[in-house]
Amino acid sequence: MSNSTYFVQECPTCGRRLHIRVEYLGKAVVCQHCRGRLIARDPAGNRYGTGAMEDAVLRRADELLESAADYVLRSRTALP
Ligand SMILES: [Zn+2]
Repeated sequence: MSNSTYFVQECPTCGRRLHIRVEYLGKAVVCQHCRGRLIARDPAGNRYGTGAMEDAVLRRADELLESAADYVLRSRTALP
């Protein structure tokens, strides 16, 4: 059971593959090989990584959805 709570991330300092516990996601960890500091990030789920771009895209999608809903609302009120 306890073996499944790790993910693998490459150390940016020494390039070794580190097994990091998922509970350290988003936190600063120290590489056990070179003592370099890094932020634990799951490479599969990009939630903690380059999220700024995705957030902007999602916000834009929300805006489009809102204006679409607004349009539907307006066209409905225009009905006889
Ligand atoms: Zn390292």
